[in-house]
Amino acid sequence: MNNTIKKDTELSPELYRVAREKGTETPFTGKYWDNHEKGNYMCAVCGGELFSSDAKFNSGTGWPSFSEPTNLQNIELKNDDSGSMQRIEVLCKNCGAHLGHVFDDGPKDQGGKRYCINSVCLEKVKSKV
Ligand code: FE
Repeated sequence: MNNTIKKDTELSPELYRVAREKGTETPFTGKYWDNHEKGNYMCAVCGGELFSSDAKFNSGTGWPSFSEPTNLQNIELKNDDSGSMQRIEVLCKNCGAHLGHVFDDGPKDQGGKRYCINSVCLEKVKSKV
């Protein structure tokens, strides 16, 4: 992948806080949690392809939720011991942006994973059909 990675100074304060400082956006406030249009979700920091609307489901959490990434090679998973629970952090493999966490309570018929992703870390583009 050779997309341009935005410099920290080019990121909005909210994107910097979430992607670079591993923050979390307030649920039900982001631009994509309730978006049901078809398309591909790219990394807001580097433009790398991360998720597809085909894998998006309604989790009721207030964050965009996906059953799987478009390509597992585009993301990195890391154990996250911060906070009160053991979680698995999801990062963009290309630029290291913190995206969110993945949990095991996703739809059983779609593999059982729930990638819980901050809207601010995503930029949706329409599918090329
Ligand atoms: Fe990225």
